[in-house]
Order: sequence, then structure tokens, then C-alpha cells
Amino acid sequence: MQLKLLNKKEDKVTFLITDTEAYIVNALRRMIIEEVPTMAIEEVTFSKNQSALYDEIIAHRLGLIPLTTDLKSYNLPSECKCKGKGCAQCQLKLILEAKGPCTVYAENIKSKDPKVKPAQPNMPITKLLKGQVLEFEAIAVLGQGKDHTKFSPGLPYYKSLPILTASSSANTKKITESSDNLVAKGKGVEIKDLSKWDESQEQLCEDNGITVEYSDTDYIFTIEPWGQLDVDKIIATAVDIFNKKLKEFEKKLK
Ligand SMILES: [Zn+2]
Repeated sequence: MQLKLLNKKEDKVTFLITDTEAYIVNALRRMIIEEVPTMAIEEVTFSKNQSALYDEIIAHRLGLIPLTTDLKSYNLPSECKCKGKGCAQCQLKLILEAKGPCTVYAENIKSKDPKVKPAQPNMPITKLLKGQVLEFEAIAVLGQGKDHTKFSPGLPYYKSLPILTASSSANTKKITESSDNLVAKGKGVEIKDLSKWDESQEQLCEDNGITVEYSDTDYIFTIEPWGQLDVDKIIATAVDIFNKKLKEFEKKLK
């Protein structure tokens, strides 16, 4: 198996995985969604809520705010020495005190740990009118996407690598004129940026004498991280967890 980076932006990373099988690539996708842990708000205690939104609605919104995650400093509550009772190694307290008129944003939440704070500071929580007050204390914990999707570190997806074969009647001129992402190469065309390949380009090729088939061994893999962890960390953690699971499986087989 080999990896090649195709495109890297803060909110989207695409790479090519070659010489592998679909079940391996899918295992990586599922490890990322279900297993890679991140921090999220799990409990909220309101001391004052004079906003137009009910406590439950605000609590739900708070749970969905991605928090930057420091995996070294926190344990999953189920694996912590405190056995899930709650301690500094598995919990973090966050507080908010706001008085209207204002819009309360994620960045107004104060964290006791500078490494764990809202990853998207501009997410609105609620609006307060003049004199209205919102005060709460929240507890964030480390969790996994298999328990609640708010803990997923991002959206991973993949597709097979397209293989383009030109027929003798291929109209490459029409194709390259109609799409910025397809450029002429020999008698056929080549994809300029694999991360931008889509169905409209496939249709364009098929309509103009180029057949499109999909590889069984090479895949274009994309991750859109929500901001808790960077993509390198997400992949490294997913692979670590996968290896750990394989070892456990091997041990149980014996
Ligand atoms: Zn603990």
C-alpha cells in the first residue's frame, strides 16, 4: 500500500491510496468515524438562561461544538483510573457568562485547559436581548463516534480511481474545452486534479469517446476534519486503533 498526497487545505485533505483493497480503505474510513476519540461537551448545568431558547436546545447545540482535542492529556472515561466517576484526566470544565444585548458565540466559552477550546470560534449559540443573561457550567469528555456522532473527528469518504481509455473516435478537443480539470494527453485526456473528479466529467468523457472504468486497487480518499484534530493525527490514531484491534483479535483466536 502506498499513499500520495493530492490536495491539502485546512478543511479538506485528499490523498491517493494505491495497491490495496476496498475493505482496507473502508476499515480506515470506519475507524475514523467510529473509533478516533475527540472531546465534546457531555453535561451542562444552567444557572441562568434568559435567552429565547430552552436549556435543552442550548445543551444540544453545545454538544455539537467541536473542541480542539489533546489526546495525550485525557483518557476515555471508561478507561480512566477513576473508573468513569470523573477526574482531571477524563473531564474538563468549561464556563460561560454572557449578558445581552449580544450574540453568544462558541469563542465566549471559557476553558480551563488552553489546549481544549472551541475549534470554530464563530459558531453562534444563541442571541441575548438587552439585559438577558446566560450562565452555565459544562463538562467536556473524551468520546467516540460509535457512541455519539458529535465525537467523530470529521467526514471521511473515498472513491475508486478512474481509468480513462480513449477510443479512436475520441473528441478530446470538446472534452478539454468543456472541463478545466481534463487536459489532453497523447490521443486521450488526463485528469489534472484527481480530488476534483466528478460525475459531470465522467459523463463528458463517455459522451465523447472515452470510456471510464474504476480501479479495484487504487482509491481517492478524502477527509474533511471538523477541527478537533488535524488530519495527520486523525489517520495516525485510526491506524493505531486498527492495529490494536487486530492484535486483540489475534490474541482471542489463540
Ligand atoms: Zn477519570
